[in-house]
Amino acid sequence: MTAFKIEVRGIVQGVGFRPFVHKLVEREGFAGWIRNTSDGVQLELCGSRRALLRFVEELKYNSPPLALVESVTYSEVVPGEYKSFHIISSAAGESMRTLVSPDVGICDDCRRELLDPRDRRFRYPFINCTNCGPRFTIIKSVPYDRASTAMAGFAMCPECAAEFADIRDRRYHAQPDCCPACGPRCFFLDAEGKPVPGDAIELARSALRAGEIVCVKGLGGMHLACLPEPETVRELRRRKRRDEKPFAVMCRDLECARRLCRVSDAEASALTGHRKPIVLLEKYDAKSLLHLSENGSVGIMLPYTPLHVLLMGEDIDCLVMTSANISDTPIISDNAAALQELRDIADGFLLHNREIVTKCDDSLIRIYGGRDYPLRRSRGYVPYPVNVPVKRMLLACGAEQKASFCLAKPGHAFPSQHMGDLKNCETLENWENQIEHFSQLFDVAPEAIACDMHPDYLSTAYAEERAKRDGVPLLKVQHHHAHMASCMADNGLAGECLGLIWDGTGYGTDGRTWGAEILSGGYERFERVGTMRPIALAGGDAAIDGIWRAGLALLLDAGLDTRRFSDESGYEIVLQMLQTGTNSPESSGMGRLFDGVAAILGICRRASYEGQGAVLLEAEADAHESGEYLYEVHDLNGKSIFDWRVTIRAIAGELARGEGRDKIAARFMNTLISAAAEQLSELAGRTGLRRVVLSGGVFQNIYLMNRLPERLRALGLEVYTHSRVSTNDEGISLGQLMILEASHVSGGTAENS
Ligand code: ZN
Ligand code: ZN
Ligand code: FE
Repeated sequence: MTAFKIEVRGIVQGVGFRPFVHKLVEREGFAGWIRNTSDGVQLELCGSRRALLRFVEELKYNSPPLALVESVTYSEVVPGEYKSFHIISSAAGESMRTLVSPDVGICDDCRRELLDPRDRRFRYPFINCTNCGPRFTIIKSVPYDRASTAMAGFAMCPECAAEFADIRDRRYHAQPDCCPACGPRCFFLDAEGKPVPGDAIELARSALRAGEIVCVKGLGGMHLACLPEPETVRELRRRKRRDEKPFAVMCRDLECARRLCRVSDAEASALTGHRKPIVLLEKYDAKSLLHLSENGSVGIMLPYTPLHVLLMGEDIDCLVMTSANISDTPIISDNAAALQELRDIADGFLLHNREIVTKCDDSLIRIYGGRDYPLRRSRGYVPYPVNVPVKRMLLACGAEQKASFCLAKPGHAFPSQHMGDLKNCETLENWENQIEHFSQLFDVAPEAIACDMHPDYLSTAYAEERAKRDGVPLLKVQHHHAHMASCMADNGLAGECLGLIWDGTGYGTDGRTWGAEILSGGYERFERVGTMRPIALAGGDAAIDGIWRAGLALLLDAGLDTRRFSDESGYEIVLQMLQTGTNSPESSGMGRLFDGVAAILGICRRASYEGQGAVLLEAEADAHESGEYLYEVHDLNGKSIFDWRVTIRAIAGELARGEGRDKIAARFMNTLISAAAEQLSELAGRTGLRRVVLSGGVFQNIYLMNRLPERLRALGLEVYTHSRVSTNDEGISLGQLMILEASHVSGGTAENS
């Protein structure tokens, strides 16, 4: 007889781990005990050495689907006097703050029971088990038990309580376990908010089939749902005042998704996996389904709650499902707010009486290189930690427009869910509240704080105030340095490398707007070794929406005729501003170059959402076109500068000759790829650095992602891209955190150039 003391670290509580262990222990006939600890579980087992070693292997590689086993360690101990196996309560005084699970999409077992007329939870929209159901969005505080969740008000019936207590049951210790006798219920209200008698889900289904717009309460907030018919979708856009932004679609199953879009094996497993994000999929024909999205892809997800499964039923294949919010406010999550704020939008309301404690939007990903390429990391992913070698308790406040934050304690970083634009005051309030909520859930009292260098970001103002209040040091991090560090951390890189950061806007250490940067360095320091010729933005922020202004600036700087924009109101004034340099701050943002070229090509002159010019330009491009234009790369005081003026002249020339926009758009992007390859290969030679990280909002562009890394690898460079956090500003907080950890605070990130 041998005895092992075994420590398992990771997400192993509330995910069916103890029943899994119990099953193995029974099979092997071990004696001993198991208990929860603050970061996992601890066991002591007696048995034969061979069986114990086999058991340790099983823990590592065969754990239940939702468990995230980070490490299993064991040591031999003197066998105790155990006659059987039992669960013991946690050590007194042991803090039970452990990792919290994200919400989990409905599992196959629950789906089967949901649709089985003999099951007591037949058609019960809140069915769940240890392997699925709500978690993060219903947890108010830790330790995680029913009393500290939105299920507190629903006392378990005897049948549910028996399942909950039985270690052989799939619902053993499933805190949100419930049934029609004891759990939450759905109801349907008409446009006036009056309850309609009858089966709530059937009422919602008939409203949807009749072409109505229905507000549906989900896991992390409300959706507006309707059939994907062009007429209905147009009406939804009109009521929501969301003119052109893409809408996501929920498909009944994989087959329905395949009818709309191409689905690769990797995409299929992302769709059907337990996280159930929205996956951006390629349309069969880029010019189809334009009422859903005006670019070449559509965001598709599968039903992720039992309520969604019932809503689609047998006969609704697809529903447009868009977050219910009013222009940039956070997603609506409570019943009263929905009835109040959506009364002019929704024709009916499918609601329920389980509270949404934490707002959490649907996650949005692409599959890139066989892995996740997150664009919005939210439901199903948050609050899973990202493992990073951090040794302190830290807070990083992120950027502003795609706000997030990141808290850390030793070994773990916890990036927040998608937050939206902090300029909206409800969003700012939600962001601040979530910082408190995360601090409490993960027991983090920050010893230092990081924020962006931008003096006007609301996240900067918060960080300054908070650092003063708490008496902790504050580090202001340069925006693109944070992007670079974010991609390094995403890939577990240490040391120094090159960063190619193509972005919209970011505040530079010289007070100017940067955004097409090549940096060298690491977490500790960076140097700006490359950039592009800046673009003058007449009216500053006015040129972010009115992107024709960027187009005009490009033409003017390239010495070309600008009259193609003469029909724009304000043309003369803008021209004058640019000619005299009045109120025309310069930006080296790659996003602005895309804007300008999209405007010159006549693809988009005014952006109705962030990045629309770039999105439409990408959608226009002919993927088979390999041609490119001239460009110049020259050295200015040791910095490599990409000069786009000859490129713009070539584009204007081709337009005048009547060349197709699809060819020009592709050749323009091919030119950027060649310029970056030339710059990076020269800089790699000069610095001796061969690793390149790609980050920044522009790398949401899949045309570039499908070509640029390959090109750089052919030059002998090692290329790293995002897979755990987003390449856009949402990913910035993780980078700030790593830079803060590496710094010996305070002041600002020093640029030694
Ligand atoms: Zn389940
Ligand atoms: Zn019950
Ligand atoms: Fe950025």
